[in-house]
Amino acid sequence: MIPGISHQRCFNHAQREAVARCPKCTQFFCRECITEHDDQVICTACLRKLAPIPLLQRPAFTGVFRGAQLLAGLLLAWFFFYLIGQGLLSLPSSFHEGTLWHIKWLDEN
Ligand SMILES: [Zn+2]
Ligand SMILES: [Zn+2]
Repeated sequence: MIPGISHQRCFNHAQREAVARCPKCTQFFCRECITEHDDQVICTACLRKLAPIPLLQRPAFTGVFRGAQLLAGLLLAWFFFYLIGQGLLSLPSSFHEGTLWHIKWLDEN
């Protein structure tokens, strides 16, 4: 098919004879390293680039991602309440006194 292919060696295996040439990366590959895709031979490295599996769609990662999302939500909630707590603590003491006075005033009436 390709002249001089018998003299070519696999790109991954220097000791193996190449059987095909990848049209994408133009490297020669042995039977083990080449695979058929859409009626053309292509190396496994290029095949991986052609059809990348999104990380989040992999079943093994979905659970991890959901867990991380939940954790991030909890952290955000904790941070939110922490900020509120800090805000209340940093309020001037007169505010609290005023509130106490207001409650006392309500009790007297
Ligand atoms: Zn290739
Ligand atoms: Zn090989």
